[in-house]
Amino acid sequence: MSKTLLIVCFLMFSVVGFSQQNFKKTLKLMGSRFDITVVANSENQGNQYIDLAVSEIARIEKVISSWDPNSQTSEINRNAGIKPVKVSEELFNLIERSLAISKLTNGAFDISYASMDRIWKFDGSMKIMPSEENIKESVSKVGYKNIILNKENQTVFLKLKGMKIGFGAIGKGYAADKAKALLLNNGVKAGIINASGDLSAWGKQADGKNWMVAITNPLNKAKAFSWFPIDNAAVVTSGNYEKYVQFNGVRYSHIIDPRTGYPSTGIISVSIFTKNAELADAISTSIFVMGVKTGLDFINQLKGVECIIVDEANKVHSSKNIKLENSN
Ligand code: ADP
Ligand code: MG
Repeated sequence: MSKTLLIVCFLMFSVVGFSQQNFKKTLKLMGSRFDITVVANSENQGNQYIDLAVSEIARIEKVISSWDPNSQTSEINRNAGIKPVKVSEELFNLIERSLAISKLTNGAFDISYASMDRIWKFDGSMKIMPSEENIKESVSKVGYKNIILNKENQTVFLKLKGMKIGFGAIGKGYAADKAKALLLNNGVKAGIINASGDLSAWGKQADGKNWMVAITNPLNKAKAFSWFPIDNAAVVTSGNYEKYVQFNGVRYSHIIDPRTGYPSTGIISVSIFTKNAELADAISTSIFVMGVKTGLDFINQLKGVECIIVDEANKVHSSKNIKLENSN
């Protein structure tokens, strides 16, 4: 055997020997199911990468949770109408970006929706429709314009007593983006952080193929509308088919219209495609509030953002650059 041939054999062997694989783990984080997939050389390395992502998501949960009394978010809420609270740069920036999305969506997205969670409960504990007065009283505490930021002092002040903020509509997307960024910085070539349908992906699968996402029919999960290849992008789906209450035949979703204090109606699910999961997460929630027509007009004006909306009659609508392979 000639020397060249030997070298070729060795090279081929080494490629196989270090071949990469997809490694996936499912965990509960931020009260939700997370599926974390990474491409790595060995199971050991795959686990290390996944642990890194988990620690980042757990860290973020500590900052943004409004359930944890020790979080800075809870401190802001406790001091509503009392005093500004100094927060970390990370939280300050997240709130600043949230307010920018409120402006972009004309107030459909509003982290101060959270005072309404005293009225609307979507955990099955609600037995009667809340009264109009109660809703009116509570919605008077909703309004992103009363979230006062001071950049110099890095403080956040909720102007009205009883105001409250929550990151339910942006936190999972933010966590997915941050975990992805951390793994990228640590040399992880490819992966998917999937936070209960809010996912951020990068690179390609171990076999060199694109990651694929299925957009499913919310009423028939086994049936996909369409499969999409994703390349360094985010896909986020918000749906009201899991968390909702029903009174007099009307289904109320867990997404609140900040103008009225009533849950939005008319839409069953929204999927957003764009570069980052944080923006996609916030926008998907906003579309519920805007409704199908305004929502589609809004998306069609944004560059690099596409959507698929399913309305309550199970009709599928999509933004102008999406071609669905097969509807229903
Ligand atoms: P999912 O939790 O199904 O992924 P979303 O990303 O749309 O859904 O987030 C819904 C959550 O956002 C609600 O459970 C609530 O915590 C919060 N929320 C509700 N209404 C609004 C709103 N108008 N603006 C911002 N956040 C909201
Ligand atoms: Mg959302």
